[in-house]
Amino acid sequence: MTTLFSRWNYPTTVRFGAGRIKELPEALAATGIARPLFVTDPGLARLPVVASTLKLLDEAKVPYGVFSEVKPNPVESNLTAGIEVFKAGGHDGVIVFGGGSALDLGKLIAFQAHQSRPVWDFEDIGDWWTRADASKIVPIVAVPTTAGTGSEVGRAAVITHEASHTKKVIFHPKMLPAIVIADPELTVGMPPFITAGTGMDALAHCLEAYCAPGYHPMADGIAVEGIRLVLENLPKAYADGTDLTARAHMMSAAAMGATAFQKGLGAIHSLSHPIGALYDTHHGMTNAVFMPYVLAFNRPAIEERIARLAAYCGIAGGYDGFVAAVMKLRGDLKVPNTLPEFIKGLEMDEARKGLIADMAIVDPTAGGNPVELTRAAALALLENALAGSL
Ligand code: NAD
Repeated sequence: MTTLFSRWNYPTTVRFGAGRIKELPEALAATGIARPLFVTDPGLARLPVVASTLKLLDEAKVPYGVFSEVKPNPVESNLTAGIEVFKAGGHDGVIVFGGGSALDLGKLIAFQAHQSRPVWDFEDIGDWWTRADASKIVPIVAVPTTAGTGSEVGRAAVITHEASHTKKVIFHPKMLPAIVIADPELTVGMPPFITAGTGMDALAHCLEAYCAPGYHPMADGIAVEGIRLVLENLPKAYADGTDLTARAHMMSAAAMGATAFQKGLGAIHSLSHPIGALYDTHHGMTNAVFMPYVLAFNRPAIEERIARLAAYCGIAGGYDGFVAAVMKLRGDLKVPNTLPEFIKGLEMDEARKGLIADMAIVDPTAGGNPVELTRAAALALLENALAGSL
């Protein structure tokens, strides 16, 4: 078997392989970071995986600070607090260590610490990113501990704007980590719900990127192989969290999803973002709930494409065969089939449904959906996910 160990420089330098976390001090030196701030989340901060990583820094005599006030679906107060710690500690770079929440928040600290405008001025709209003073963005070394968001290879970060209950994407090319250490051993401790949700996030990224209109053969190629890796390895990683080969392939698929989605995303994300912002649900699991409803809605535009994908993945039956494979995967991973099964006690009146549809159609991902996501379509999709109508 091929050794699952390599180095990639696309889209950034990725040191991939089990045990490579021990290269962290060297990666910091290669990036020119002398006094890093280590950003993680409070759950991880209590786990041995953080203690053993900090020990590596101690042994290498790297002076560092730790910041872990990061909630899942991070908010502006997390960023403000992180920047204070960053400045007080005289840090010159950031180690982002964790799932998408810690990675995004840490990337934002590196980006925003020395900017003079509010973070919301850098939302991923047109060329707003050019408002930033790029020379003041400090370098980032990223260490993912989940296999889903792919934030480690992304140039954007998601943060919730609490006043408007919206998830905003902040973009700058220099938010791309300089070095990624992708060590699948770090993901072994993920509980099954997080393994499932993050893995389905990687699938949603690859699938929506592949279905988004526009010419991007590189993204398409990466997406189809990412989908194959998820279909073959996510059930294994879920069934046996210590299966390092499956964990490694999932870690690749996560990075591939985020690499591919520079082509675009679609209605799975457009609906998942408002649900996540309003109900604080896990992002990847929310995507997993919406996936089949959006596939059905997009069918007229994607049937041929999905048939090609099914053939590549060795799935018989074209579009229908592929959807059946997705439904089986959802079942195996115990993904709730409807929103009320997912969000306990959920009740939505017409005004709330209208609000979600309004938020979905202005979400930046809506433009990537292969069928136009009108307000009526967003409402219908939401109704289907509420009732389980496929
Ligand atoms: P997360 O970072 O919120 O982590 C979920 C939980 O898993 C946390 O409690 C964490 O402590 C725990 N955890 C993480 N790694 C673990 C490990 N190895 N062992 C045990 N527990 C572990 O979850 P996530 O799905 O990775 O990230 C979701 C966030 O990422 C959301 O805020 C979402 O909006 C964002 N996101 C960003 C992008 C991007 O491109 N930047 C893409 C998709 C999602």
